[in-house]
Amino acid sequence: MTDAHLADDLSPATRLVALGRQDRLPGAGVNAPLEFSSTYIADGPVNYARAGNPTWSAFEEALGSLEGGEALVFASGMGAVAAALSLVPHGGTVVVPAHAYNGTTALLDRLEEQGAVRVRRLDAGDTATVPDLLEGAAMLWVESPTNPMLEVFDVPGLCAAARERGVLSVCDNTFATPLVQQPLTLGADLVLHSVTKYLAGHSDVILGALVTPATDHGRGLRDRLATHRLLHGAIAGPMETWLALRGLRTLHLRVERATATAADLASRLEGHPAVERVRYPGFGAIVAIDVDGGAEAAERVAAACRLWTHSTSLGGVESQVERRRRHPAEPATVPQGLLRLSVGIEDVEDLWRDLDRALRA
Ligand code: PLP
Repeated sequence: MTDAHLADDLSPATRLVALGRQDRLPGAGVNAPLEFSSTYIADGPVNYARAGNPTWSAFEEALGSLEGGEALVFASGMGAVAAALSLVPHGGTVVVPAHAYNGTTALLDRLEEQGAVRVRRLDAGDTATVPDLLEGAAMLWVESPTNPMLEVFDVPGLCAAARERGVLSVCDNTFATPLVQQPLTLGADLVLHSVTKYLAGHSDVILGALVTPATDHGRGLRDRLATHRLLHGAIAGPMETWLALRGLRTLHLRVERATATAADLASRLEGHPAVERVRYPGFGAIVAIDVDGGAEAAERVAAACRLWTHSTSLGGVESQVERRRRHPAEPATVPQGLLRLSVGIEDVEDLWRDLDRALRA
């Protein structure tokens, strides 16, 4: 693997390209191996591929360095969510944003029904309640910006409040990406990614990851999470992991381009006659708009788009549009007419023409 000391002096853009490579031995490939082996010759560091794989290690090296910690790859973002929640003791309390990703809240609801956890909801507009919510809790879940309302939390403040009370903090960094914020440096104990989104970036794989600090405390968490991955067994495929690493190489360029386009589109959408409200946190490449006319009007806009793809998910090179309340799991506080726009890397004028035409249709 890459010379570990090399990374210390490199900027994120360079780490994305340089890390997760093979040793520079004569004749070695410049890319990480795509290792299709379920088992390995005895007496090496790993003996069976449910415990480890060189393609995982390459991806984990690159992502860990970007987040300033040590990464573990999972079969999906939800696989990583389930692993993180396995750290909560039976019956423990989890504090979660009311508008966190609906898969996360749906899993928490199920676990609560089974008596495995208790859930307390955190309202982004009412952070004065944080001390009470954290009292006696086992885990604080932070997602910033939230999906799909794009609410931004004070990540350092929340993580510090959790730490003071001995509450483990997890930050879902899927929307922001490590190029915008590195939650471990802001005080989080654990970082989560749906790698499916920006990190892989091409809407061709489902994958997840967790990152822990390179401290004794972090290594303790990492051991428990690696054991969860080994024993629950829903592991990442080497092919998916290799594709995600390939996608990661261009994260910097994709995020830079998509962010500039998103900021431009967000300002053009302000004052558009068909748009009641624009939600854009001022960074990142997701914009949400409340379409005038509610659910039906928003569905019509999504269906009328020709260049934007009407599809769920986000973070790919292609721009995507979706009315989030079409999913029953989305909370009633998300407006019926809210369209989530995941801005890709196409030409801004082409994207604007298509969206403006669909909004006026
Ligand atoms: N976290 C966030 C913020 C998401 O948006 C998603 C998926 O949309 C997930 C986690 C779950 O990831 P996956 O779909 O890779 O399982």
